[in-house]
Amino acid sequence: MPGLIDCHVHLISLGDGRAGDDLNLLPDEILTLQAAKNAKMHLQSGVTTVRDCGAKNQTTFMLRKSAEMGITVTPKLLLTGRPIAIVGGHLSYFGSPATGPDECRAEVRKLVKEGADFIKVTATGGSTRTSFRHHASFTKEELTAITDEVHKFDKHVVAHCASSEGIENALDAKVDTIVHCMHIERDGTFKYNKELTKRIVDQGVYVNPTLHAIRHQVWHLENLKNTKGLSEKEDIDYQSLIDIYSSHTKLVSRMKDEGVTLVAGSDSAWLNYKMGEFPHELEAMNSIGLSEMEVIKSATLDSARSCQIDAQTGSIEKNKLADIIIIDGDPTKDISAMWKINEVFKDGEIVTGNK
Ligand SMILES: [Zn+2]
Repeated sequence: MPGLIDCHVHLISLGDGRAGDDLNLLPDEILTLQAAKNAKMHLQSGVTTVRDCGAKNQTTFMLRKSAEMGITVTPKLLLTGRPIAIVGGHLSYFGSPATGPDECRAEVRKLVKEGADFIKVTATGGSTRTSFRHHASFTKEELTAITDEVHKFDKHVVAHCASSEGIENALDAKVDTIVHCMHIERDGTFKYNKELTKRIVDQGVYVNPTLHAIRHQVWHLENLKNTKGLSEKEDIDYQSLIDIYSSHTKLVSRMKDEGVTLVAGSDSAWLNYKMGEFPHELEAMNSIGLSEMEVIKSATLDSARSCQIDAQTGSIEKNKLADIIIIDGDPTKDISAMWKINEVFKDGEIVTGNK
């Protein structure tokens, strides 16, 4: 089958549970080495393309340079370099905060000059300690300046949206892909917004629902509970994450039923979600009602469309790259076969060390 395309990764992350705020404190040299390790591991697990949705400073650009020099082996890399954020906003510590439409345009131009293939923007807060998780971050004018500038370069915009307010701004600004896409109000309550879903469908925006990014935290705390036991705070987090996962998955399957194109992206190695374990996300998508074939399409051709590389890869067709994986089993009948990767070919070259 075609090689997998994970449309949402963070190559510099350690997958050891540390928050982004703390990850950012590590030196760039360590983060670049970690990115090389993660990239190779993901490739060996059958992922022939990744879209990296945010790293610190020049780390992922240096990874690409080292791959071009033959120093390391990676999947095909689509990079934003740094995500653009408001001052203090989600992922702003990675080095590209911007204020006002002019600075937003300037930041896009800087990243494109450095080699960005697309631009990631955080349209709401997130796990970043100084951010406001469920509030919109950029103004509509700022967000529109970013998308307008990115589209001038024939590139695309991926927006992190942890609330409905952010989704609305992202749609007004005409972003191309929305990640997380959580229908959450300012006060943190889930409320399905049918009108926003209709706009997502009408505007042809792709949604990357990052299910296992939440579920793995539930699993992690469950594991702790069964081994060491949970502190009072951990237990509150555990109960709350169970509710969040249940509410988010219900809303994602509604979005799917109402015509939204879902694209598979793991968000690994953020928090405890290690790289090389993309099938967890595929299994989660299968568990909320996507058929095996729908999951496969979301992780190959639709993911390629969302990354705007479907002319080169995403399906096995004449004139496309030979990004091909051989699996021991039939994932169209049982999605867990995705764990049994036998061989990986990237652009016709066999990737060694994956057995
Ligand atoms: Zn992410």
